Amino acid sequence: MSEQPQPGVAQWFDLVQESIVVRDPAGGILAWNQASARLYGIASEQALGRPEAELLGSQYPQPVSEIDAILRETGSWRGEVQRRDAAGRELHIDLRCSLLRDAAGAPLQVVETARDLSEQRRTERALRHSEYRYRNLFQAMAASFWELDFSAVGAMLQRLRKAGVTDLRAHFAANPGLVREMMRATRILDVNEQTVTLFGLGDRAGLMDNVEPFWAESSNHTYAESVIAAVTGQPHYVAETRLRRIDGSEFDGLFTACFAPEAVGRGKLLIGVIDISERKRAYAELERSESRYRNLFQAMAVSFLQLDSSGLNKLFAELRAQGVTDLHPYIDQHPEFLEKAMEASVVIDVNERSLKLLGAKDRNELLGPVTKYWIPGHYDAFRGSIEAGFRREAGFQAETRKRTVDGREIDVLFFVTAPPEMRDNGIVLVGNIDISEQVAARAAVRQMQVELAHAGRVTMLGELTASIAHEVNQPLAAIATNGEAGLRWLGRAVPDVEEARTLMQRMIADARRAAEIIARIRAMSLRRPPEPVPLGLNALVQEAVQFLQHELRAQQAQLLLQLAPALPLAQGDRVQLQQVVVNLVVNALQAMAQADVPRRELQIETRLTADREIELAVLDSGPGIPGEHFDKLFESFFSTKPNGMGLGLPVCRSIIEAHGGRIAAGNREGGGARFAVTLPLPAAG
Ligand code: ADP
Repeated sequence: MSEQPQPGVAQWFDLVQESIVVRDPAGGILAWNQASARLYGIASEQALGRPEAELLGSQYPQPVSEIDAILRETGSWRGEVQRRDAAGRELHIDLRCSLLRDAAGAPLQVVETARDLSEQRRTERALRHSEYRYRNLFQAMAASFWELDFSAVGAMLQRLRKAGVTDLRAHFAANPGLVREMMRATRILDVNEQTVTLFGLGDRAGLMDNVEPFWAESSNHTYAESVIAAVTGQPHYVAETRLRRIDGSEFDGLFTACFAPEAVGRGKLLIGVIDISERKRAYAELERSESRYRNLFQAMAVSFLQLDSSGLNKLFAELRAQGVTDLHPYIDQHPEFLEKAMEASVVIDVNERSLKLLGAKDRNELLGPVTKYWIPGHYDAFRGSIEAGFRREAGFQAETRKRTVDGREIDVLFFVTAPPEMRDNGIVLVGNIDISEQVAARAAVRQMQVELAHAGRVTMLGELTASIAHEVNQPLAAIATNGEAGLRWLGRAVPDVEEARTLMQRMIADARRAAEIIARIRAMSLRRPPEPVPLGLNALVQEAVQFLQHELRAQQAQLLLQLAPALPLAQGDRVQLQQVVVNLVVNALQAMAQADVPRRELQIETRLTADREIELAVLDSGPGIPGEHFDKLFESFFSTKPNGMGLGLPVCRSIIEAHGGRIAAGNREGGGARFAVTLPLPAAG
């Protein structure tokens, strides 16, 4: 420590790697070696003669006077000094000072050796910082952390190895007791707050023993695997496992063990536990809902196709980029876009039901672009669906005709389900409900309506006969009168030919009028004679009801059918008798609507009477019929409705009477009207 630079030793002075500075007791620099120049970035020429404290901006840990006193007293001083180099960087210097005295013992020179601690200090600071961060993390993380000491487990493993155990995995599996013992040997050094919360402990102290209580028996395997991972030099081990709270309840945890080499060397281990019961539950829920969806998809009695519409999404994006905001006018101008869009809508999955509906033997036949399902010229529904999709609507439906893969054409209710988030992911669900039958039924109903309208006209004629007869009768009577008068004028002694001519002209005019009336009547109908056939009245009622289905729903009327089983067949004209039922039901509905009764009940009964006649009755819960109207009901043109024709009941009566039956009106006890039609049984044989 007492190197003293002499002129002859300047060379080795510069060779020393450590910074050496010689100064006089007041601080003036006397010598400055190369290492000092390197350390402070100051060449010796610039340093020599300068006061050191000023040159280096030294900050001492204690007053300079105290340091001088110590130097004088003990001959040396050591301490950490902060200095600045030429570039202004802060340096931490481990400074050792030694005092040289002259022969008289008076202070002569001070030799200082300096070691740069800056790097070390920086590292320490970073370390402190990271330690602090780690502490924070350890405490603040939403995970439970454990610091464990497993050195005793290490000793156990060594004993096993000595005893000749080579296959640890098999050994652990065969000795669950040993695994539990290892757990007991794993001591708890520290845990964070989350651990206390998660494992349900009142305070941390209660946890500070070993880990065994916290491992469910079913998790022995996981623990054993983590030990194996540690001894085979794995950096970490992660597993989902069952863990146990202090109250014995178990939960699913994600267990992570970190085997940092230096920590493992010291027998230390850090493990983290995250409660994943919630996540597991959510996942199970997801799985359930996924399988529910699959089940639904498969089991629905409706054909479902899952489409990949990402291609369509791309086309949409291109159009939007071109500034298209409404697809409808765009398609008007670019009809070819429809087929492009079909090509870009690809079936990727189908349910069982689709096979049958779309005529496929194998589901693969149904996959691919939807183009094959659409009939050229019948693109309206497809167009509507993509226009709705472009507007980001979640659903669309329309009735349409589609083509099956075996070449048939079917009527379907076509519907598209694609909530925006589904559509964004390129998923679109398409459903098809076969409505061929409904369409056929609707066509039949339309046909029936035509027939009924016709029958209505025909039967109305019967009723009109009276007034027609009256009208035709007038000109005929006039003709007769005029003819008689004419004869009288001609029978005179001097026949008045002029009078006779006038009368003849009137007769011709009257005859023409009569002919016109007849022509008008003929024009109203090509009269079709009733076609009596054996008829099941119950079936007839059912048909009429089907025809009225819409009306019943619109009126929110409840229909009760009480049809006698095994009713004998009647004889009659199907269309005309249907007209009767329809008329009576419509009357009943109108009466209930007009009176605005809250409970609308319509009842149709058929039965065989004691007199072996077939009776059909229509009952309602309307206002019933006032006593004074009974006489007039069946008269032509009697109506209490603002737009009533007053022809329905008379027509009914003429039809029924033509069938040899009767029709009667009455009131029900509880309120409401009852119209009863009675038909004779056809003569036996
Ligand atoms: P319209 O329906 O044109 O009135 P209808 O001959 O069918 O002619 O009926 C004549 C009248 O008989 C009706 O205006 C109504 O006053 C009465 N009527 C018919 N059916 C019922 C009924 N179910 N309940 C009460 N009144 C009825």
